[in-house]
Amino acid sequence: MKTSETSIADRAAAVLMPTYAPLDILPVEGDGAWIIDDTGRRYLDFGSGIAVTALGHGHGALLAALQQQSERIWHLSNVFTNERALSLAQALIDRTFADRVFFSNSGAEANEAALKLARRHAHDHHGPDKHVIVALEESFHGRTFFTVSVGGKPSYAQGFGPPIPGIAHVAPGDAAELTRAVDGRTCAVIIEPVMGEGGVRPLDVEYLRTARRLCDENQALLIFDEVQIGMGRSGSLFAYQRYGVTPDILTSAKGLGGGFPIGATLAGAEVASSLGRGTHGTTYGGNPLACAVAEAVLHEVSKPELLANVEERSEQLRTGLQRISPPGMFGEIRGLGLLLGMELAPLHAGRAKEIQLGALASGLVVLVAGTEVVRLAPPLNITAEEVDAGLEILESVLSSLPETPAP
Ligand SMILES: *Cc1c(COP(=O)(O)O)cnc(C)c1O
Repeated sequence: MKTSETSIADRAAAVLMPTYAPLDILPVEGDGAWIIDDTGRRYLDFGSGIAVTALGHGHGALLAALQQQSERIWHLSNVFTNERALSLAQALIDRTFADRVFFSNSGAEANEAALKLARRHAHDHHGPDKHVIVALEESFHGRTFFTVSVGGKPSYAQGFGPPIPGIAHVAPGDAAELTRAVDGRTCAVIIEPVMGEGGVRPLDVEYLRTARRLCDENQALLIFDEVQIGMGRSGSLFAYQRYGVTPDILTSAKGLGGGFPIGATLAGAEVASSLGRGTHGTTYGGNPLACAVAEAVLHEVSKPELLANVEERSEQLRTGLQRISPPGMFGEIRGLGLLLGMELAPLHAGRAKEIQLGALASGLVVLVAGTEVVRLAPPLNITAEEVDAGLEILESVLSSLPETPAP
């Protein structure tokens, strides 16, 4: 069969449900901060599979962990526990506020467990009226029906039948509105300390402190969704540690597995006790392969030199982006650690995708967040030379961007 004339999108459309609009290359291999397509072309990867391949592609320690575990045992289910799940849970507990961990397979599932836990905890201690979840507009917590309902994009939850009641949305960063929204019926406030899909928007520490205080005053639980910013991407293991504001429940996924699917919901012992026997479950959660890889990721990402690299490369990238940005193209360059967003100025509104496609054609993978923000999430172990190489490509792409968008 001749495939050279068939676009990747067409090939996908012939066999996959039309959920996505894939880019027009077919990556088949990875090598550190690089991906290689089916024609052998190499692309510098500043997307990391959306902040997932935290240590790049083919990291030796992760490969070894997967290989070793694959020769021992692959799967046991929740009928048993297993040595890898116990060990990873302990390693997460040792490094965070948490006493207990629930494992799942994705960010959405980690949040699903967090939200169910929060509602169950309130139900156990205060009765069924205390069930309202307060969440932020533009936030993203996953694509299950509960998590899109809690997430801040109404369009993601519409058209799927009756909405889930008991969810309130407030404008991110507005402490006064949050104060009005949280009351005795609130069971939880859920926040991404740095809003990823919502445009790489870090919330300020005062706002997070207000959320903490309001939760304390109203016996509500504070949930931090660190699926995207956690696991070293902020420059600290978890962003809450950097902000100095401790949640009651923390969710992790994406970078946690470095590319192997896993999610985790962390909580203190008292809160965790509400997810009692039989209240929740999953077949694959705590899978030994996933936990073995995640423990290797956690070990690497906890190293001071890795976290120092995040800080240094972040600074290099921010400075470089300021330097190469054509005057007037971007409003703000913001973010934390190695999750950075470049927001287009009004004159260039809507051109994030165009920049992404231009970069790809020049050998650089970048992400977008909505239509107005170019998002960068390189691997945490990226080198100074690779950052410079990416900046050089981006500079030529931005400087040759037509003055007005292609019609
Ligand atoms: C990606 C993401 C999720 C959902 O994770 P999945 O693994 O796609 O289910 C949830 N929260 C945040 C902050 C995310 O970035």
